[in-house]
Amino acid sequence: MTSETRTLVDITDIAGVEFKCKHCDAQILYPIDRLDPERLLRNCPNCKEEWFFFGGDVNTNDFDLLRQFVLGLKMLVSRKSIKAQISWQVKGSKDDKEKS
Ligand SMILES: [Zn+2]
Repeated sequence: MTSETRTLVDITDIAGVEFKCKHCDAQILYPIDRLDPERLLRNCPNCKEEWFFFGGDVNTNDFDLLRQFVLGLKMLVSRKSIKAQISWQVKGSKDDKEKS
């Protein structure tokens, strides 16, 4: 008998996106249904560490890439026209460890 354990997260189950500062451990959680991508913070609200580089073009501008990703996720979650179930596989399952 072969068994497989995978952890999948359906995008409609995503309730929010959280940022945690690598410098001071402050955290901020944005609920996905009320998230305004234009109001995302570029810097830690506690220690002011820059979280996302903002500048240059699409290859270097981390903040614009993040805003586009979050906006796309927010829009995808609410689309009724999509006829596929979209899930992300989470790392750390037994299957992943065997491959690495
Ligand atoms: Zn911080």
